[in-house]
Amino acid sequence: MMVKRDDAIHPVVSGNKWRKLKHTIENLPPTVTSIVSFGGGFSNHLHALGFICHTLNIPFHAIIRGNYEGNESPMLNDLLHWKANLHYVKKDTYQKRDEKGYLAQLNVQFPNGLIVPEGGSQSDALFGVSELVDEIEPPFDTIIAPVASGATLAGIIKGLTPTQRALGIGVLKGEGYLESLVSQFLDHEENWRITHDFHFGGYAKKPQYLKTFCEQFNTCMPFAIEPVYSGKVFYALQQLLREGAFKKGERIVILHTGGLQGARPKIN
Ligand SMILES: *Cc1c(COP(=O)(O)O)cnc(C)c1O
Repeated sequence: MMVKRDDAIHPVVSGNKWRKLKHTIENLPPTVTSIVSFGGGFSNHLHALGFICHTLNIPFHAIIRGNYEGNESPMLNDLLHWKANLHYVKKDTYQKRDEKGYLAQLNVQFPNGLIVPEGGSQSDALFGVSELVDEIEPPFDTIIAPVASGATLAGIIKGLTPTQRALGIGVLKGEGYLESLVSQFLDHEENWRITHDFHFGGYAKKPQYLKTFCEQFNTCMPFAIEPVYSGKVFYALQQLLREGAFKKGERIVILHTGGLQGARPKIN
């Protein structure tokens, strides 16, 4: 059993979101004068993008679902510290984040702004993600990773050899739906599947027994997990091992995608 430590890419920036943004940021057209993107109040994606924009001195507009004014999460406080422009919108506006008309309106509001979809899950996100597979040593048979928007699992699948396989852990209720999200990025690869037994009720849902599992894990392991992504993956692994879901001698890698920033307690 091995763990690919993408949580270790940066102390606060989520490794998975950094992988997804890497190609886009490295290939930014010179005409782009700002970046616009979307997320919730604890978004690992907005956090990673905000950090990158701050580092590269690119103005960043974060469109945030809900109004956190005066009640900022640690994530939003980091964005403010990094001089991001926060735009709080109501749920009905946020729901239009992929609609043509709304995007055209944002293009007018932010001329020469590059609009990055929620989660950083544009198709070129796959390039940066698939690189992580090449970095893994020694050889492995199966890689396990969380699935939300699907771009991470799709990028991993792109990096696999035909004899390797990927097992996704759905972190939200989405049987069928999550498969379609992943497939849209693929060409007909079949060496993957998603299990839907470990979403714990839905996205960011964390029953007490999951929280307890994470706390116990964190006291005895040399690295930390959180209940939204990595906690569900490690819990699933424990369960699957108990059920004898793997072949004898199967070499397994768990991808730790990071995301620990979202679990920080509020201090203000
Ligand atoms: C966003 C995120 C994921 C899910 O990745 P998708 O590409 O949306 O499936 C997993 N882990 C962490 C830490 C994330 O922030």
